[in-house]
Amino acid sequence: MMSKRLDEIEESATFRIAALANKFRRDGKDVISFSIGEPDFDTPSHIKNAAKKALDEGRTHYTPSAGIPELREGIARKFEENGLEVAPNDIIVTPGAKQAIFEAIHAVLNEGDEAVLFDPAWVSYDPCIKLAGAKPIWVPVSEEDFKPDDFAVTKKTKMIIVNSPCNPTGAVFDRSTLNLIADIAVDHDLLVLSDEVYEKILYAGKHISIGSFEGMHDRTITVNGFSKTYAMTGWRLGYATAPPDILDAMLKLQQHSTSCATSFVQYGGIAALEGPQECVAEMVNEFKARRDLIVDGLSSLGFKCKKPDGTFYVFANVSQFGGGAEVAERLLRDAYVAVTPGIAFGSSGKDHIRISYAISQARISEGLDRIESLMRNI
Ligand code: PMP
Ligand code: GLU
Repeated sequence: MMSKRLDEIEESATFRIAALANKFRRDGKDVISFSIGEPDFDTPSHIKNAAKKALDEGRTHYTPSAGIPELREGIARKFEENGLEVAPNDIIVTPGAKQAIFEAIHAVLNEGDEAVLFDPAWVSYDPCIKLAGAKPIWVPVSEEDFKPDDFAVTKKTKMIIVNSPCNPTGAVFDRSTLNLIADIAVDHDLLVLSDEVYEKILYAGKHISIGSFEGMHDRTITVNGFSKTYAMTGWRLGYATAPPDILDAMLKLQQHSTSCATSFVQYGGIAALEGPQECVAEMVNEFKARRDLIVDGLSSLGFKCKKPDGTFYVFANVSQFGGGAEVAERLLRDAYVAVTPGIAFGSSGKDHIRISYAISQARISEGLDRIESLMRNI
């Protein structure tokens, strides 16, 4: 009875581990969750108030499928920061960045096309590519800095997926790495899907959008969202800009699936973009303190990991204790510490675990204590 297209697709590892941790919690266990990647902060109150006001004013109906004009205007202004010259009409507002990624991939990939993914990569790109009937081509990055070197493409390659700052490694691609990718895209007439949802969770330097590079404007789909920057994961609000024909195709998919992003949520999005940004700086400062705590702690326990420049993830090599999946299982079963096995992000993560440090410093310290006790017995 089941669709063949889903045969090859596994459930999302990030949601699976989070559900498992919740199950242990319901059973009365005190689980420390370094699993799913979502800020633990509450959404800033000016954003919540804007959505409440929209509800009270009766903004409770369908909006234009591509999003309300005021939000698209705000996003166009935001993209100027990234050096992207786009008009409100070049933007689609989606229920989460994930939906934008799903639509972009389905808008352009055909059966037999190939899309390049840097290994390790976030869990949902590969299934989206396969659902579109296309083939993911995994290109391993250097274990040293988690950045790609020169790589080959074929006649079938149509797209390269770039995610900087990167989930799961926290790596931030510098200008030379992005130049390398842009040169390959231009030389081989390829599209780039640039997922920039962690743009603001950055501890060094300035974010660079590959769509602003010479020759890239007409071949780049830039995706961003509100989940990570403004602690709005449950609101489901994201957006993208793409060349007009691709945007039209994405819009068709949206019209025939989710219709539009939730009406009053979009008003929260305007407040997020146009309101005070100090809340973002405060959250990022706290993430930075947590990064230092977790990386210093893990390193002193013998895990191999460096301080990433972005995101709230550490991708630690645990090979001296066993395979990543085995260590993750032991941590959950024996210490009630939930992490995501690195293999969920591609085969180069088989010796790794991903730690999401979007929890308080007190819980991180307790998690480190539990990991230490467990590792002493391995
Ligand atoms: N891209 C990456 C790399 C992510 O980690 C996430 C996290 N969920 C998303 C996209 C999707 O974000 P959203 O909540 O906006 O759908
Ligand atoms: N992006 C987050 C993560 O990687 C949330 C879950 C998901 O969308 O996969 O954990």
